[in-house]
Amino acid sequence: MIALLLLQAAVAAGPDGRVLGHFPYGDVAPGELVDAPTGFGLHGCRVRADMLPDLQGLVAAADTALGPGSIRGLSCHRSIERQRGVFAGGGQGTTEDRAISVAPAGHSEHTTGYAIDVAVRPSPNCPDIEACMAATPQARWLLANMPRFGFELSFPPGNRQGVKWEPWHWRWVGRTADAPGAARARFVFAKARAAFPADPGLYPPLRIVVLSQPEPPPLPAPPAKKKRRKPSSSRP
Ligand SMILES: [Zn+2]
Repeated sequence: MIALLLLQAAVAAGPDGRVLGHFPYGDVAPGELVDAPTGFGLHGCRVRADMLPDLQGLVAAADTALGPGSIRGLSCHRSIERQRGVFAGGGQGTTEDRAISVAPAGHSEHTTGYAIDVAVRPSPNCPDIEACMAATPQARWLLANMPRFGFELSFPPGNRQGVKWEPWHWRWVGRTADAPGAARARFVFAKARAAFPADPGLYPPLRIVVLSQPEPPPLPAPPAKKKRRKPSSSRP
């Protein structure tokens, strides 16, 4: 553990401030956090007060569309200290390897109180925080509806930031720029949003990309063959 912490501290930030692909984020003041709607957090869930009205609306809409308890908060605000432990426990491999799926301490969107990891219930044959979640009806509903409540998918498939596709990780930026609290949230994520736009999630999660070229136009019909005259043997 100590060796890992030293290693993490030794990784220098890039010119855009990112460490191992992740932008830096400060810890939210504890007084700005509130409890998520009752029954939402699987292990407790605290979020920024500004996000709460939209989160309440989201949970109510999901309960109506999918059934009560269909979406749950797996992880919400995480302090920098908590994130240090999450990163240290983030699987095998090098520091760079684990940074693909876990942000180093001080570089997680969860630290801001604006990010939530959503789990779906029921979820047969697909553990939480696995990409298979994207194929569930609940995740498809999330992709179609989260933007209505001011959330965007921070790490869409194939993101150039180099972070693993996370169909469960959503950050709140407000429904519109002038929604209460949205300006502050958008300021916090300004760098990330400018460099690596989040996905609005307004398409089905499993897209089919047609790589083949369109059919070429038909060629013009060849000119009709002229009948050859048989060479005359009488000709000189
Ligand atoms: Zn997350």
